[in-house]
Amino acid sequence: MSNTLSRVADHKARVAGLVGLMPVAELPVAGRKDEEHCLGLVLAADVVASVPLPPFDNSAMDGYAVRAADVASVPVELPVTEDIPAGRTSLAPLEPGTAHRIMTGAPMPPGADAVVQVEWTDGGTSVVRVDRGVAVGANVRRMADDVAVGTTVLRAGAVLGPAQLGLAAALGFSSLPVRRRPRVLVLSTGSELVGPGVALEPGQIYESNGVMLAAAVREAGGEAELLRFVPDDVDEFHAAIAPRLASVDLLLTSGGVSAGAYEVVKDAFTGRGVEFMKVAMQPGGPQGAGRYQGVAVATLPGNPVSAQVSFEVFIRPALRAAMGFTNVERPTAVARLSAPISSPAGRTQFRRGAYDPASGQVVTPVGGPGSHLLSALAISNCLIEVPEDVTELAAGTAVAVRLLHGE
Ligand code: AMP
Ligand code: MG
Repeated sequence: MSNTLSRVADHKARVAGLVGLMPVAELPVAGRKDEEHCLGLVLAADVVASVPLPPFDNSAMDGYAVRAADVASVPVELPVTEDIPAGRTSLAPLEPGTAHRIMTGAPMPPGADAVVQVEWTDGGTSVVRVDRGVAVGANVRRMADDVAVGTTVLRAGAVLGPAQLGLAAALGFSSLPVRRRPRVLVLSTGSELVGPGVALEPGQIYESNGVMLAAAVREAGGEAELLRFVPDDVDEFHAAIAPRLASVDLLLTSGGVSAGAYEVVKDAFTGRGVEFMKVAMQPGGPQGAGRYQGVAVATLPGNPVSAQVSFEVFIRPALRAAMGFTNVERPTAVARLSAPISSPAGRTQFRRGAYDPASGQVVTPVGGPGSHLLSALAISNCLIEVPEDVTELAAGTAVAVRLLHGE
């Protein structure tokens, strides 16, 4: 094992550069069931309107298209000479002294300059009595009121949520250029690991890191292929990854990188483009990163909490950056500790916490510092970040918390 001691920030920078910016793919604005689509992805080029919005003058109300001058003195009765539902594409002009019954979203007939809402009339279909007058332009949505042709409506770098996709659809786009999702191959190592549905022999444990990391990749916006696990055997490790390397953007392993014997990931990659180091953090000290046969590799430690914290600190921001997000970090907050905690000197500690913004920004440490305490991780919603040089924090101290939900 290399004895290099790396700072958290150094390793973050190392991992950040590993996965390059994802290539651009043209994806549907609306995917059918299993089809890949744009939601949640980053737009790779400006979107420019080639049609106006609205595309034509139309009625904002169910009512009667009129000339405002014809309803200047009320009540007045006008013959209803046309019925214009939404979707009508050919229109007769409105003759002076008449009305056309018109529905919301239907095109305004030539000659009409206002709409009287149905509530201000008797609702007649052959003759209508109008009880209140309207001004020119009343209840009419003008062509290009919202978007003029040639307007840049969305800029490259925008995150595509429901409203952005709705706008693109309204402008007639069926697909948009986006940065595609990074493909991550998730592989756990350990001869003690077994899958679900098998009774545990003494010394065996159910594999959990692969499940957790694949979920974390997906939650971050990536695509995960879960190989689940291989035993601590270098040949089996290589055999598992070899056929898949060509199609992934990142190989993410857990286990087999610390200081013991049988460190399969280290044995498989040492001297082959992946650098192993100890990062000054707790949990998550043993880390590795590099490039194997041209493919980005990040190797996380095996202890489940270490693996998940390492993912949050190093891998998630790297994947988000590769997808083109400018804001790659989780939201943070400042909170007061409800109980004292201690932390080793010289290492950044990430303690699991329950943060409650409602009760005056208080964070409660959950479980101890042990990196095997998976149930505490599962009921926490933040990481309490204790800087390298701090060893004791009294109850009531303000600390930085990294929220584990949201962007
Ligand atoms: P390692 O880093 O391989 O020495 O593993 C450290 C600890 O994490 C050991 O107690 C392992 O049994 C445990 N561990 C490693 N990989 C996994 C995994 N995929 N799922 C659950 N526990 C694991
Ligand atoms: Mg192991």
